[in-house]
Amino acid sequence: MDFSFTEEHERVRETVRRFAAAEIAPIARQHDDDETFPKEMFRKWGDLGLLGVRYPAEDGGSGMDKISDCIVREELSYASQSFASTWSAHTHLGIWPIWKAGTAEQKAKYLPGAFSGEKISAFGLSEPGGGSNIRALSTKAEKIDGGWRISGAKTYISNSPFADFMLLAARTSPELKPHAISLFIVDLPNPAVVIHKLDKEGIRASETGLIHIDGLEVPDEALLGNETGTYPIILDSLSENRVGVAANALGMARAARDASIAYAREREVAGKRVGQYQAIAHKIADMDTDIEAARWLVYHGAWLVDQGKLTASMAAKVKLFASEVAVRASEQAIRIHGGAGIMRDYSVGRIHRDSLVYVIGEGTSEVQRNLISRALEL
Ligand SMILES: Cc1cc2nc3c(=O)[nH]c(=O)nc-3n(C[C@H](O)[C@H](O)[C@H](O)COP(=O)(O)OP(=O)(O)OC[C@H]3O[C@@H](n4cnc5c(N)ncnc54)[C@H](O)[C@@H]3O)c2cc1C
Repeated sequence: MDFSFTEEHERVRETVRRFAAAEIAPIARQHDDDETFPKEMFRKWGDLGLLGVRYPAEDGGSGMDKISDCIVREELSYASQSFASTWSAHTHLGIWPIWKAGTAEQKAKYLPGAFSGEKISAFGLSEPGGGSNIRALSTKAEKIDGGWRISGAKTYISNSPFADFMLLAARTSPELKPHAISLFIVDLPNPAVVIHKLDKEGIRASETGLIHIDGLEVPDEALLGNETGTYPIILDSLSENRVGVAANALGMARAARDASIAYAREREVAGKRVGQYQAIAHKIADMDTDIEAARWLVYHGAWLVDQGKLTASMAAKVKLFASEVAVRASEQAIRIHGGAGIMRDYSVGRIHRDSLVYVIGEGTSEVQRNLISRALEL
């Protein structure tokens, strides 16, 4: 067993760390306050090759592995989870299914622009009727001559307020299979797709939409996979992305720990630095231990993806643990900061608000526990 990162991995980490410190950290607070995402960031990411990290060079990607993808996520999240979430919704949720199940024409139409940052994607699966159960999905696609007519609603869809295209999940032929759920590639804007930007408490700079789809007509070429369902592709995509978002959570937890260490070293109460209080030092020791455990789970998960051995249950364990670590660490960070932790001038409140998104998005902690316990055949 060799647990070391390669020189290439270290180079990726250093490049993204520097980029994020220079280009994201200084504007993270402002965009969180304004609830806006600077779209020009996509071109910068594209120029650095950060939008195709996980995809092979022969498909136009940067030809790296899942471990590199997790390193990029960790470093982006360290600077801002909003920016990292925006990146993730595009580079994984919006692109992966096309790369995995798309025809040569679909790949040629969408992947080059998606990798360069010219075209931004979104992934519309969750619905107002309940995001936790995919099988409850009610958006319908009816076959019409030469294409499909789609009606329904989607909610909490990241990047949708400014996306150039969206993968839209809809039921195609329930008479063939109850979970005949397929993805359609929908070019935006489209008058039959009305997108309302939502107000959020967490990852506020990541733009999120509620979507109404009324009689949207798309051609046959918009269907990804076939009409008996892209369901297994959706499930595989979610599993792989759970390892990814666990890396995001790890980045947030590290940011909370480092802010706590800096504060504990600097803040003096009655002539004593707060880091010298054992209660504070122990909180940081627990945080550091949690982070170490999360790190090994995340990179083990990434290694399993690269080996083609990731199971849904393992992905759930990685995501469950790392996301809960980010919540615990950022909550402790607020306590360690005392009153300052509640002030917007300090980053720990924002990290905590953002961390809560990750015990919900990509499947709640309860859903992860369902997946893990189901695999135990209790
Ligand atoms: C900021 C943000 C961005 C998002 N981005 C996207 C995106 O880009 N694309 C997309 O498709 N979705 C996206 N989502 C949706 C996200 O995946 C869902 O919010 C998530 O799956 C939970 O669904 P829900 O919100 O409908 O919760 P619900 O399903 O309503 O769950 C409510 C509560 O009930 C619990 N619960 C539900 N079912 C079960 C069960 N079977 N067993 C035990 N407990 C259960 C849940 O754990 C939760 O505590 C995003 C969400 C957020 C908050």
